[in-house]
Amino acid sequence: HSVAVVLGTRPELVKLADLIRLLGPAAHVVHTGQHYDRELSGQFLSELGIPEPTCLTGVGGQSRATQIATALAQLDELFADRPPLAVVVQGDTNAALAGALAANARGLPLLHVEAGLRSRDRNMPEEHNRVLIDQLADVLCAATPGNRANLLAEGADPRRITLTGNTVVEVVRRHLPDAEHRAALLGSYGVIADGYVLATVHRPENTDDPVALRAILTELDALAADGTPVLLPLHPRTRARAEAAGLMPLLDRLRVTRPLGYAPFLALARHAALLVSDSGGVQEEVTVLGRPLVVVRASTERPEAMTDFADLVAPGPEIGRAARARLAHGALERERLAALPSPFGDGTASLRIAGLLGELAAASA
Ligand code: UDP
Repeated sequence: HSVAVVLGTRPELVKLADLIRLLGPAAHVVHTGQHYDRELSGQFLSELGIPEPTCLTGVGGQSRATQIATALAQLDELFADRPPLAVVVQGDTNAALAGALAANARGLPLLHVEAGLRSRDRNMPEEHNRVLIDQLADVLCAATPGNRANLLAEGADPRRITLTGNTVVEVVRRHLPDAEHRAALLGSYGVIADGYVLATVHRPENTDDPVALRAILTELDALAADGTPVLLPLHPRTRARAEAAGLMPLLDRLRVTRPLGYAPFLALARHAALLVSDSGGVQEEVTVLGRPLVVVRASTERPEAMTDFADLVAPGPEIGRAARARLAHGALERERLAALPSPFGDGTASLRIAGLLGELAAASA
């Protein structure tokens, strides 16, 4: 192995899948265990064709500091035993920060996939993770010109930055089931194309605050009461918090499922009349699938999605207003969105990043 790919959560598995495939036997995948359960990681490894990773132990469910420290100590040992020629991290998770710090501590070249995202919201731990990882990385792969501008504004040497696009574009294209499979999947969930809402909620600021969670579920319940089926693949954290806060009755009218595999999720997203989500990755995926999205968050680090595809709203009645306005738009608007290019690139990011890694590994060999 020459390249260590450090990851720990579902979105990292998704966004690194194509790069790992392109690297082939050169990639050593290391999973920190931040989300190491079957629903959030296990099924994604096989589905996305990611080789069995080296798994670190015991970081799930702990405090942020403990997660970072535990993963960092184990990565340091691993890198001492079998030093890779380069280290790759993606995004803004605690796993990515631990990987970046471990590479830095061992003097290993570090490449950051999805560099330069900024929400400028200092209440988000992810914002601090992003800034720290970008400081440490030798190669910054910016997905958009805006991401590149953010890095330059913070004084990054332009020679460290490459505009690659976002790897999610090619991953969506590769894993979106064909039309026949999509039709079968919609049928198995009892919905018809353009006739339902697909919702996801998992961010701590929405799940761990009972007022916010109640507001979101109340709006989804009201959309279902209007007669639009609302599918909610329920994240384990959201289920636990809804139970603890006595909010489960608000789910009665929703079509609640377990977290979905990637292909079923993409199929349902592709044909939803509307998505409602607090996810980061879904903001990018809707631009490839050409679907409208209501983003339930205080801030976003992905302003590119807000121009045409998505509206940013806080938990509360604004969700219902934005959702009904989007649903009223109908088929012409969906056609317009489907025809727009994604602001996140052309589907060649993983290929370009694999090339950059080849150069990095050759220079450090
Ligand atoms: N996703 C999925 N099944 C689901 C919900 C989401 O496959 O039931 C995918 C989604 O398409 C996206 C990723 O999981 O690629 C997003 O993960 P998450 O929302 O946990 O993280 P974020 O993107 O907010 O960091």
